[in-house]
Amino acid sequence: MTSIHTKCGADWTAGFSGVCCGAAKALAFCLQWTTVVSAMNRRSFLGKMGHGALGVSAANLLLDKPRILGANSKPRPKNWIWTDGGERLKPAEQRERFKQFRKAGIDAVLFSGFNREVLACAKAEGLETHAWTWALCRGDKELLEKHPDWYDVNRLGDSAADKPAYVDYYHFLCPSHDEVRQHLAKIVADLGDTDNLDGIHLDYIRYPDVILPVALWKKYNLIQNEELPQFDYCYCEVCRGAFKRQTGEDPLQLPDPPSNAAWRQYRYDSVTRLVNHLVDVAHEKRKQMTAAVFPTPALAKKLVRQDWAQWNLDAVLPMTYNSFYNEQPEWIQRAVKEGVAALPKDRPLYAGLYLPDLKGEDFDRAVEFAMAGGAKGVSLFGGLRTVKRAD
Ligand SMILES: [Zn+2]
Repeated sequence: MTSIHTKCGADWTAGFSGVCCGAAKALAFCLQWTTVVSAMNRRSFLGKMGHGALGVSAANLLLDKPRILGANSKPRPKNWIWTDGGERLKPAEQRERFKQFRKAGIDAVLFSGFNREVLACAKAEGLETHAWTWALCRGDKELLEKHPDWYDVNRLGDSAADKPAYVDYYHFLCPSHDEVRQHLAKIVADLGDTDNLDGIHLDYIRYPDVILPVALWKKYNLIQNEELPQFDYCYCEVCRGAFKRQTGEDPLQLPDPPSNAAWRQYRYDSVTRLVNHLVDVAHEKRKQMTAAVFPTPALAKKLVRQDWAQWNLDAVLPMTYNSFYNEQPEWIQRAVKEGVAALPKDRPLYAGLYLPDLKGEDFDRAVEFAMAGGAKGVSLFGGLRTVKRAD
């Protein structure tokens, strides 16, 4: 399956079902991150463990880097990783994987899938545990069949329920529906009752991309210098009615909907209200709430209508994937700085790094740029995959 994956917009070839990226049948895994921070304190792990199931190559350390942080002047960074649960690993293999995370400087794991044993094992190894949860992009069969009216509708009148944009799984729910809010609140509340889970991490908490990251235009044979109607959401009855009550105007009747500031703001606010409600639900259950968001406040608003500086999250993890914007690693510092400046002072930002495009020294530099921009750590994506053992 080829699709746009949320964390990068790039091809993501792992089969996807539910919330687990192809991990369910995995019998072995391979850590493929190739770099890490400390050029001064570089270390490699080479070896095979267990029954040859685990290969960890050239994973260097994300541990404290005095050169960046200044000796003893700041706390060491907190680093994250988006990964699968590896539920089929043997207990010893799983323990070894989590030990490797810790050695590599990872503090918190965002699990796409998990079970009770996975969480207990991660906690026992000293890791924070978070449920990586697809929020508004939900192609659940039951929802599509029973509630097609809950889904976003574009400016041409096509529903994301049966005519998703770009790729076949882009079934986005409309954040303005009360029923959608209640449905997602129930999911968060249920996760909130999970033992050994520290937090809930929202992904796809946005509209479909009205404009794709520029590096993807060629792939989809599109020029998106303006908001094209087939990618512009949401014009469902609920949204049209709410905006009309607010302003007296039907967004479909506006002479140029993309240029209408109030209509843009309505959609930012619709996502923000939903997020802040979900944060309250998570906090009632004493869980942290974080989210994967587009790289800067300005880009997030422009591309997917996320006004994430207004979200009451415990931490924000922008996907500062420079290559998707045809930028060099230096750009990460500028992007992080813009995000930090927009957030409340006590709100930590962890810079998402896309490992496949940060080879060798570029990774070291990316981490340095993230920290120099004011990030409290980084979150790694894409360098880790679970593979089936050929036996
Ligand atoms: Zn709507």
